[in-house]
Amino acid sequence: MKLNSDIVNAYRVLDGQELTESEAMALTRIAGNDILDLVSLANKVRDKFAPKFIACSIINAKSGVCSQNCKFCAQSGCHHTGVESYPLLSPEAILESARRIYDLGVRSYGIVTSGFGYLEADDEFNRILAAMDLLRKELPELKLCLSLGILSETTARLLAEHGAWRYNMNLQTNPDRYAELISDTHSIVAKIQTIRHLQKHGVSICCGGIFGLGESWEDRVKMAFACRDLDADGIPLNVLLPIEGTPLEDRPVMDAADAAKAFAIFRLVNPTKMIKFAAGRETVMKDFQGLLMLAGMNSMITGGYLTTRGRGVEEDRNFLYQLTIFNENA
Ligand code: SF4
Repeated sequence: MKLNSDIVNAYRVLDGQELTESEAMALTRIAGNDILDLVSLANKVRDKFAPKFIACSIINAKSGVCSQNCKFCAQSGCHHTGVESYPLLSPEAILESARRIYDLGVRSYGIVTSGFGYLEADDEFNRILAAMDLLRKELPELKLCLSLGILSETTARLLAEHGAWRYNMNLQTNPDRYAELISDTHSIVAKIQTIRHLQKHGVSICCGGIFGLGESWEDRVKMAFACRDLDADGIPLNVLLPIEGTPLEDRPVMDAADAAKAFAIFRLVNPTKMIKFAAGRETVMKDFQGLLMLAGMNSMITGGYLTTRGRGVEEDRNFLYQLTIFNENA
C-alpha cells in the first residue's frame, strides 16, 4: 500500500529539515491506517534525534485555593471541585518526598505550587528557596525543576541562583486564544515574559499544554510552533481529564487517534526536544498509552500528578524498558 503523500513529504524531518505550519496542518487531516504510518515516522524521528527515555516526578507542594480561573484546573478557587487544599509544605516534607522517588531511580523532580506566581521574594517564595537549598545539599544529583507560576526578573534570577535546572511554564494552547480557552485572570504575555526572564538567567524551559479543551487542529499546530519558537527544552503534553466542577466538566474525552496525531505532529515540529506524556496517560488514554508513547514521546511523568493518581514508579520503569525494544538507539 502506498504511503500518504503528506507523510512522504514529512520524512524530510529525518534529514534535519523543518516542516512549515501548512505542512503540519496537512498532517492533521490524516485518518484511519495512515495515522499508524504517521506514528511510525514520529517514532523514527524521536529515535534519531531524542533517543533516551526519561521519567520525572512532581510534588504538589501547595494545593488549591488559587485566585486564577484556568478552566481545566481542579485547584482554581473559582471552581467547586472539592480538591484537597493545603499551604506550602515545609522544606523537610519536600525533601522526604524527593528522597522517596530518588531511591526509586528518578533523577528529575519538580516542585509545583498553585497560585498566580511570585513577583516578589516574599516569605513563601523564600521558603521555596530554602527547600531548594536543602534538596541540593541532601540530593546533589537530583535535577531540580519548578512550576511556580508567573515570575519577575528578580524571582527568576533567585531561582537560578538557588539551583533551578528547569522551569515549567505551559502555554496550554494556542497563545492567541489563551484568554478564551484557558484564563483571563492573567495574560499569556506575562507567561512568555517569565520564560524570557528564566532563559536570560540560564534556566532550561519546560513548556507544553493540554489537548481536549475544545481547541481546533489549527490551535494545536500553532502551539507546537510556539513551543519551537520559545526554544522549550521540554514539552509536556497533557490530555484533558474533565474534572467535575470546572467549566470543562462536560468536555468529551479526546479520541486516542487524535491524540496520536497531535503527539506525532509535536515530535515532527520539535524533533530534538524532550517531549513528555504528562497527565492523562493512565487515566484518560489507558490502553492506548503505549501507542501514544511510540508517537514520538521520550519522557513521561511517573508516580502521580497534581490532583490525580498515576501508576507506580516500578511499573512505569518496566513500561519504559519495554518501549526501548521498539527502538535502535534507546
Ligand atoms: S493552573 Fe495554576 S494558576 Fe491556573 S488555576 Fe490552576 S493552580 Fe491556579
